[in-house]
Amino acid sequence: MPLISVVVPCRNEEESLPLFFAELCAVANGMHGRDEDVCFEAVFVDDGSTDGTLGVVEALEAPDPSMLAVRWLSFSRNFGKEAAIFAGFEEARGDYVCTMDADLQDPPSLLPAMYAVLVDEGFDSVATRRVNREGEPPVRSFCARQFYRIINRISDVDVVDGARDYRLMTRRVVDGILSLKEYNRFSKGIYGWVGFKTKWLPYENVQRAAGETKWNFFSLFRYSLDGIVGFSTAPLSIASLAGLLSCLLAFVFVVVIVVRALLFGDPVAGWPSLACIVLFMGGLNLLCLGIIGQYLAKAYLETKRRPLYLVRRRSDD
Ligand code: UDP
Ligand code: MG
Repeated sequence: MPLISVVVPCRNEEESLPLFFAELCAVANGMHGRDEDVCFEAVFVDDGSTDGTLGVVEALEAPDPSMLAVRWLSFSRNFGKEAAIFAGFEEARGDYVCTMDADLQDPPSLLPAMYAVLVDEGFDSVATRRVNREGEPPVRSFCARQFYRIINRISDVDVVDGARDYRLMTRRVVDGILSLKEYNRFSKGIYGWVGFKTKWLPYENVQRAAGETKWNFFSLFRYSLDGIVGFSTAPLSIASLAGLLSCLLAFVFVVVIVVRALLFGDPVAGWPSLACIVLFMGGLNLLCLGIIGQYLAKAYLETKRRPLYLVRRRSDD
């Protein structure tokens, strides 16, 4: 009997959770009714919420628990969505595992079509992609598009523009994802890295059902840097290249200056340009050091082998 696990990361979602759960129940009911032997489990991961999310999750109960079982974990603090999804994957027992946001931006109504793709068309994973960014500030959309352009150019893994974390995967894919134990997790890159046959389902962007987004411009910017540092070493090569080019340039300058001094003598001039060059070189040095520092910091955190999350309470206790 195939079991579908639905992993739901929740951070301060007390308003949207009841709406979400009602919709999930309806979808599960529909699929169970059509295909008698499909069962569901919902794995809610409370990522250090400061509102009543945990209480809401504890109270959730499906009309028919044999068709939709509810399990949950609650973190000891906020560890981030990536950690929440990872914890949910570790917890999931299903033959198929799906991740979905709690705010209904990942419409549960797509689930039957996604399941059909895995069962009938032989794909290992079905992912969803927003075709538009309706309702998002234009600056945010612009930056997001630039980020996808850059990371796809400098990284070996495919990161699809508009890709959501909303996907349904077979057990094999999930085990693949779980085998990547890295501390700095960038799931869009991880999905690309594990590979497997993936079908993309496009859909129109949906606005959040209730509550508000946990992202602001700076957290997104930091997240995009994490993605680049995590899945590409191109910035290090760029730093070396910049160093090499400025050395060559300096060499040419030296030749020019020596020749000029031999031919025309050496009038005391050129302080402004000298200051500019010194400043530029100093800046370049610091920039390259900073890039190296980014990688070093990531490596440092990885070597500590800290757990990705700590659980305070769980449904099975
Ligand atoms: N989320 C989480 N931990 C966090 C931030 C967000 O588990 O630290 C969850 C959140 O509850 C939601 C999903 O991740 O279910 C997506 O968050 P959000 O809607 O804020 O992101 P957006 O859709 O705006 O990208
Ligand atoms: Mg959202």
